[in-house]
Amino acid sequence: MSDLVPNGNDVVSELVDLLLDRIHIDKELGQHFLINEKILQRAVEISGAGADSHILEIGPGPGTLTHFLLALGSKVTAIEFDGMVVEHLQRVHSQAIESGQLCLVKGDALHVAWPKDLTHVVSNPPYQISSPLLSKIDNWQNEAKRRDDNELQSVVLLLQEEFASRLTMEFGIASRGPLGINMALNWQCSLDLKVPPHSFTPHPEVHSRLVLLKPRNLMDELDIEVEPRLVKRMVDHAFAERRRKMRNRLKGTPRKIERVPNWNRKIWRQVADKLLSGKEDINLGSGWEDFRPEDLEVNEWLILAQKFEHINNELVE
Ligand code: SAH
Repeated sequence: MSDLVPNGNDVVSELVDLLLDRIHIDKELGQHFLINEKILQRAVEISGAGADSHILEIGPGPGTLTHFLLALGSKVTAIEFDGMVVEHLQRVHSQAIESGQLCLVKGDALHVAWPKDLTHVVSNPPYQISSPLLSKIDNWQNEAKRRDDNELQSVVLLLQEEFASRLTMEFGIASRGPLGINMALNWQCSLDLKVPPHSFTPHPEVHSRLVLLKPRNLMDELDIEVEPRLVKRMVDHAFAERRRKMRNRLKGTPRKIERVPNWNRKIWRQVADKLLSGKEDINLGSGWEDFRPEDLEVNEWLILAQKFEHINNELVE
């Protein structure tokens, strides 16, 4: 590790102080730096990463989490947007960069290319990119599956508490929505440490939560096969008006439905009419048409989408 990285217990506060000496905090970049070593250690620990791993870190800031990731012996790729922060990281982690253990990339983590051989993501990212970041991680995993390539083994993120509740659907109906349902297809999402505002400098206004995502394949587990893009369009569309009944929501057509293979607006309407005619058997509780989107469990969305696919196939025949 770099000779410029301070050793001992104070490594976290020293790295943060070194950075604060050099920059003006940019709140628009979500610059809230963790100063509680326990949380950093916990993030590293639950990731399960080790010396063979290649970890992606988004928004390394002072380089504290980076420090603990490097201590595992893992390869780390860290993407940082702020040029002044990048200069700081080049100084404090110069040795790891020279040895090739750390690859520091200046840019927007949502846009720069990620290395193909990643095994983990561990990050305290800026909160304003949480949603597109999770989409990118999920698409990454789908692509890796398609290419039969390295899949991510785990993802550990520090997120805004309310967002973490929606991701894990912690409170059942109250936190059910497109984020949690769509992510549940590929990930077992679980909550870990609660992180109060005073664990950061400067303090954010919100509470935070450490979240662990472990890969899964829910469709395989439930033995249901259906086009995931159809599920996603259906869920997003239904929840656009979460207080209305399913019957009503399904009569409308999801946006961009024609991007899902074998679907267009006309077919959607035909299929929805047929299903809602009441003559079709579907393995959902009776009266499901009068439920609201938030009343359906993840597996019920899969059953519904699968039924849509079946009726579509029958129409074609
Ligand atoms: N991980 C550090 C810093 C968190 S603050 C810690 O735990 O203390 C968020 C960091 O993300 C800042 O350094 C900010 O400059 C950086 N950042 C903001 N937007 C980014 C983006 N789109 N891509 C990469 N980094 C970004």
